[in-house]
Amino acid sequence: MKSHLISEYSIERDYSKCTDCGICIGQCSYNVHYRDVKENKILSRDEHCVNCLRCVVFCPVKAISVRNNPNAYKSNFHWTHDTIIDIKKRAESGCVILSGMGTDKPYLTYWDNILLNACQVTNPPIDPIREPIEIRTYLGRKPQSMEYEYDGGETCLASGFYPQLCLETPILFAAMSYGAVNLNVQETLARAAMECGTLFNCGEGGLHPKLHRYGKHAVVQVASGRFGLDLNYLNIGSAIEIKIGQGAKPGIGGHLPGEKVTEDVATVRMIPAGTDAISPAPHHDIYSIEDLNQLICALREATDYTKPIAVKIAAVHNSAAIACGIARAGADIIVLDGVRGSTGAAPKVIRDNVGIPVELALAASDERLREEGIRDEVSIIAAGGIRSSGDILKAIALGADAVYIGTAALVAMGCTLCQKCNTGKCPWGIATTRPELVVRLNPEEASQRLVNLINAWNAEIKELLGAMGMDSIESLRGNREQLRGVGLQDHELKILGIRAAGN
Ligand code: SF4
Ligand code: SF4
Repeated sequence: MKSHLISEYSIERDYSKCTDCGICIGQCSYNVHYRDVKENKILSRDEHCVNCLRCVVFCPVKAISVRNNPNAYKSNFHWTHDTIIDIKKRAESGCVILSGMGTDKPYLTYWDNILLNACQVTNPPIDPIREPIEIRTYLGRKPQSMEYEYDGGETCLASGFYPQLCLETPILFAAMSYGAVNLNVQETLARAAMECGTLFNCGEGGLHPKLHRYGKHAVVQVASGRFGLDLNYLNIGSAIEIKIGQGAKPGIGGHLPGEKVTEDVATVRMIPAGTDAISPAPHHDIYSIEDLNQLICALREATDYTKPIAVKIAAVHNSAAIACGIARAGADIIVLDGVRGSTGAAPKVIRDNVGIPVELALAASDERLREEGIRDEVSIIAAGGIRSSGDILKAIALGADAVYIGTAALVAMGCTLCQKCNTGKCPWGIATTRPELVVRLNPEEASQRLVNLINAWNAEIKELLGAMGMDSIESLRGNREQLRGVGLQDHELKILGIRAAGN
C-alpha cells in the first residue's frame, strides 16, 4: 500500500555553510540525515523528521533549519491538517495511534486567565532581598489541635505528629519510571532533589539499587502492576504514592513495550527481560474507598507508620468527591494530575480527549474538602502541565500545598517536546533505554540545569510573594482573594472560587 502521508517537516541545509562533517548523521536517532554515495553529499529524509532539533543544536556551523512542511493538507476550521493526518495514519495502520508527552489540544489553560494580586499604598510589599520570605513546605496530615505539658516550668509539646515531608521548596519532581526513562534521567532527578531539598518520584518501575542512597529524597510508587515492589522498596523512600490514575491517560493502565525492558529494567521491575510490562487499568484489589483504605493500612503497617501515604488520581469530572473519599480512606496527600500531564506513551485519543484541567479539579477539591471539614487531614499536590513560578503560586492560591513538575523538569534537561517518547528513540537521551542514546544525558550537567531551574523559580516565588506583601508561602495557601480572573465565564469563576478582575 502506498502511503498517502506527507512529511510533517521540511529540512533545509545551507550548503554554503555546511562543512560535510557528518555530525547531523550521528546525532539523529531517526536516520533523517544520510550521505548519498552517488552525489557524495549529505541529504535528508524529511519524512523521518520529528522536529526534535538535535541536529540544529549540534550542527557546529548552524547550517540546518527545520520548518513545517509548506505542503500541508488543505484544511478548514473543522478538518484541520492534524485531523487529516490522524485519519490517514489509522487508515494505513489499522492501529491505535500512540503518542508521548501531554496533549497539545488548545484546551483553555486557566493559569493564563488568572492574575495574582500586588500590594499598593496601604499594604506595603516586602522586598525579598532585604527580608526573609519562607517557602519551606510541609506535606502530610495536620493535627486538629495541639496539647502541651508543663514539666518543671518548661512547656513541652505532648501531642504526636503524623508523618510529614519537609521540603525546602513547594516543587517536587513527578513520577517517571525506570524503563520509560533511563537511569541517567532518574539519577538526574534524584541529585537535583537532594540539592534542592525536595523529592523525586521513582514511578511504578521500582527503585534501582544505584538510587537507594537517594532514598530520603524519593517517593516510591505503588501502581497496579506492582513492579519492583517489596518491603525494602517501601521502606527506602520518604513517602509512598499509590497511583490510581494519571492525567495524560485517565482510566487506562500503562504499557512499557518489551524492547524497552532491558535486563537491568527487568531486574528492577522484577519481570522477565524483553516482555511487555503491562499495568492493568484498575488495581485488582481496589474497587471502593474501603478497599483503598485497606491498601493504605497495609502500607502503613509495612512501614511502621513512619511514611506519609499519597494517592494520585487523574483530574476527572468528579475529582472533588473522589478527593474527599481518599481523605476519608486515610491518605495523607492527594495528588491531582490534570489533562495536560505527560507520559512516555499513551493512546493519542485518550491523551487528547479524557480528563479535565487541574486548575478546575484543584479548586473544586480544595473547596469540597473545606466544606466537609477535612481539608487539614490531607495535603494536595497539583500536577499536570505546571510551566512557571507564576503557575505554581496560582496553584497554591487555588488550594494546593505543593506542585509536581514533570515536563518542565525534562525540558530543563534537554527535552524539546517532540512528543515521540513512545518510539524509544529519544535523541536527547531521556525517554530511551538504548545504550547509545542513554549516554547523551550526563546526570551531573543535567542535574545542574534542573537545580538552576528550581533556584530561579524559588527566587521568583519569593519576588511574587513579596509583591503580595506575604512573608511566607503558607499565607497564600488557598487564599483565593489574591487571584482574579480575566476573560472567564461566570460559571468558570464560580468553580475556581475567584472574582473577575476589577472586582
Ligand atoms: S552537522 Fe551541520 S555542518 Fe555538519 S554535515 Fe550536518 S549540516 Fe553539515
Ligand atoms: S523526552 Fe525525548 S522523545 Fe520525549 S518529547 Fe522530550 S525530546 Fe521528544
